[in-house]
Amino acid sequence: MAKRDFYEILGVAKNATDDELKKAYRKLAMKYHPDRNPGDSTAEAKFKEAKEAYEMLSDAQKRAAYDRYGHAGVDPNMGGGGGAGAGGFADFSDAFGDIFGDIFGGGRSGGGRSNAYRGSDLKYNMEITLEQAAKGFETQIRVPVWDNCTVCSGSGAKPGTKPETCSTCGGSGAVRMTQGFFSVQQTCPKCHGTGKMIAQPCHNCEGLGRKKTNKTLEVKIPAGIDDGMRIRLSGKGEPGVNGGPAGDLYVEVHLREHSVFQREGDDLHCEMPVSFATAALGGTIEVPTLGGKASFEIPEGTQTGKTFRLRGKGIKGVRSSYPGDLFCHVVVETPVRLSDRQKELLKEFEQSCTADGDKHSPRAKSWMDKVKDFFG
Ligand SMILES: [Zn+2]
Ligand SMILES: [Zn+2]
Repeated sequence: MAKRDFYEILGVAKNATDDELKKAYRKLAMKYHPDRNPGDSTAEAKFKEAKEAYEMLSDAQKRAAYDRYGHAGVDPNMGGGGGAGAGGFADFSDAFGDIFGDIFGGGRSGGGRSNAYRGSDLKYNMEITLEQAAKGFETQIRVPVWDNCTVCSGSGAKPGTKPETCSTCGGSGAVRMTQGFFSVQQTCPKCHGTGKMIAQPCHNCEGLGRKKTNKTLEVKIPAGIDDGMRIRLSGKGEPGVNGGPAGDLYVEVHLREHSVFQREGDDLHCEMPVSFATAALGGTIEVPTLGGKASFEIPEGTQTGKTFRLRGKGIKGVRSSYPGDLFCHVVVETPVRLSDRQKELLKEFEQSCTADGDKHSPRAKSWMDKVKDFFG
């Protein structure tokens, strides 16, 4: 397909100035913009054509190459010796991006330009205990926030005076900087985006329109909350600028380490030391749970590492229908600081065990077998 001449596409003379190029391109872009011609593939093609032509001619180096070699000078597909390739047009969204925000002034959705900003979101870290997390609770927090100044009602101007419209940006809060092909919108350096100038600032807030204060907020921590979860207090962040909505405050929960339980999701785990005699004979064991003490029977010959599961003694998570379980991990305790009498009894006990061979120590037996295998 023969490509049309770039100057012809834009309808300008070969010696057109940058300004003339830009004007011609804008005119075409406005006319053929896909948003204005939905479903019209001819318009879309014309739009892309104009964009390509403008991109080439607005770049001095590419324009020079084009003037000298024609399309071969700038089109990478034509194997020319020219400058950098033309940005491909395969991706349709590409045709919308950069220039269009500029031409239509702020977004394709059409809304008017506004210098109202949403306030910042804030984060508050809260450390809570496992018990608090399990049951949930209500509390108050004090957070430092920017709030609208009560003296000037947020205008920043001394009571009785009014802020004036910024002369640099005409009140829009933004100025346009043109750098070659690009036209960039920037926050107005004079009014810092507020669009207003204050001749006589409010004494209370020094013209900021807001002041840092401490706010007390009610927070409801739901039962079952887990480490790292956040509670959003809608609209409790920093106030918006120029009538924009306030940000949100996020309370992020951190679980303090518990002395007995480790939490894993809705389940709890705890270590359960059992005396050597109870482990051997079996018996009733008492364990703590978040809901108070619980007891259960352990069988004769319980070994270290054995886990007992108490159903429903874990935590009911925020989104769970049932509480999790409590896992008790047995650790058989070696008795320490024995009296002479106790030592005597144990020696006697040991001798009586040895007399029976290895039948009282299944683990030692199996271990010895493995060791024998190992040495062949
Ligand atoms: Zn004030
Ligand atoms: Zn301004």
